[in-house]
Amino acid sequence: MISIILNIIITVAQVVGGLISGSLSLLSDALHNFSDVLSLIISYIANKLSAREASVSKTFGYKRAEIIAAFINASSLIVIAIILIKEAVERYFNPQSIDSTMVIWLAILAIAGNGFSVLLMKADSKTNMNMRSAYLHLVTDMLASVAVLIGGLLMKYYQLFWIDSVLTAGIAIYLIVVGYDLLKSSFNVLMLFTPSDIVIKDIVEAVCEIEEIKNIHHIHIWQLNEKEVHLEAHVEFHKNISISEFDSILTKIEKVANDEFNINHINIQPEFNKEDPKDIIVQD
Ligand SMILES: [Zn+2]
Repeated sequence: MISIILNIIITVAQVVGGLISGSLSLLSDALHNFSDVLSLIISYIANKLSAREASVSKTFGYKRAEIIAAFINASSLIVIAIILIKEAVERYFNPQSIDSTMVIWLAILAIAGNGFSVLLMKADSKTNMNMRSAYLHLVTDMLASVAVLIGGLLMKYYQLFWIDSVLTAGIAIYLIVVGYDLLKSSFNVLMLFTPSDIVIKDIVEAVCEIEEIKNIHHIHIWQLNEKEVHLEAHVEFHKNISISEFDSILTKIEKVANDEFNINHINIQPEFNKEDPKDIIVQD
């Protein structure tokens, strides 16, 4: 919470400072900080939403709110970065004078603010993975502000105004790298792609080791959100087993899927001599 508030203060100061001083690199650092604040707020709201209960009209509740938030965050990050690169290229060939004193002071403010957040999180970052990623993110934020500070000094003492465009492009490229990763992983979840750490061939082999099972086919493995992985499939049996026998085999399948593949929701259609396509992946 403290680091969110600090980030908001820094961002507002940098946006105003960037506009007044005419420094694009300060503005891009601000937009980066702004996107951080936005993603923290969106994650917070999404988190609250996803805790809402499911209902007859929303059987999954809002469990995908965080994935949609991540997708929107990543897309806007990339759009912002592309606009910044376009501006930076135009500025490079047409440099403008910049109030470098203001750039220097605002960069120092950003370094101090982010530095304080880094200190706050340092202890937690050693035990909690989520805090560790937030911590590392803040460290890179601080390095971006250090670059802006160095740029401000070069502009003030050597009038190297082109440095502003170069720094802007550097920050924008960093935004694209971060945004692309997030865009790709949220896109994969939204498209119901098989989670990248699950190999379908392995799960087929593991399930077929249960002796009553003839084959498993028509498989779908997809993620509802970061926590929940679903498996849907048809399972064909050698014999016309009873439903209670199926139940005990289902428990075995659930155990394999859960222990070896981290799949936590399973929906199986049992079959005996049913005429349907027996491909592992059924087209259409
Ligand atoms: Zn089938």
